[in-house]
Amino acid sequence: MISAPHPAAPPSLLPPDMRVFVRGWLSSNNLLCLSEQTPALIDTGHSKHAAETVALVRSALGDQPLARIAHTHLHSDHCGGSGALQAAWPGARTWVPEASLDHVQAWDEDALSFGGTGQRCDPFTANEALVPGQTVRLGDHDWEVHAAPGHDALAVLLYEPRHGVLVAGDAMWENGVGVIFPHIDGSDGFDPFADTLTLIERIDPAVVVPGHGAPFGRAGGAIQAALGRARQRIDYFNQHPAQHALYAAKVLIKYQMMDVERMPRAAFDAWLASAPSLRLLHRQHRPDLPWDEWLALILAPLFDKGALRRDGDAVVDGG
Ligand SMILES: [Zn+2]
Repeated sequence: MISAPHPAAPPSLLPPDMRVFVRGWLSSNNLLCLSEQTPALIDTGHSKHAAETVALVRSALGDQPLARIAHTHLHSDHCGGSGALQAAWPGARTWVPEASLDHVQAWDEDALSFGGTGQRCDPFTANEALVPGQTVRLGDHDWEVHAAPGHDALAVLLYEPRHGVLVAGDAMWENGVGVIFPHIDGSDGFDPFADTLTLIERIDPAVVVPGHGAPFGRAGGAIQAALGRARQRIDYFNQHPAQHALYAAKVLIKYQMMDVERMPRAAFDAWLASAPSLRLLHRQHRPDLPWDEWLALILAPLFDKGALRRDGDAVVDGG
């Protein structure tokens, strides 16, 4: 599923040297920071759309090489284009959250979460660490690095204080919240997520560039309203953790099918059985049910609502 990139955010929201490519759900948004010296891209989308990401950057930069790549976190929909960007512009330097730098350099797929979730991500290299409390020069701006645990334990926020632009990754969306991955692995993610929302409120950005969906601004109370919705959702999950497990299982399965689009039923079943995160979610949601019965329970609404379809002996993404 490739959705056409939105040409740009409404011009009043972002300074003219920042361009956001709003992508579909499988690829995160990308923020391109234009510059004579150090044009930079923040977050690079999914490997499935890597060629499209390179084309978007090339069309904006022309003959100028991309100089810097940075990531809010290393989920496969936020860093899957990095390998292709590095191949297109071999001189680019690449930043990742500090705690992930060794894992990227060793390309440790389990430590990088691709093993647990059964996802794929084209390998890339990284040279530099994003350290909370420090700044990083991306484009012609110095961006503050803030720790943003919750959705991902190692994620960071990037904040440009002169224009009030916050690149939130999946720490904040306008509607709803992403899966709280640390909770799947048995650590607390709910309280850190709420603390990250409090941090965003304290930063008080003028505009939020979320990992998915269009940028939204302080005007009209959109950011406050989004914070309120996210807090409500976190509170609900805190009180009903099994509901988070149900939500996460559906998201992981749908995500896989958005990537591969079609799988023979046997391969689909094998993928379900091999993803360790789904085993953990089974135990968090309904440990009383055998695996097969639990899967049937999870899959039924995905088929009923058309998120997945059966086509002969295959399972197909419903779009
Ligand atoms: Zn993510």
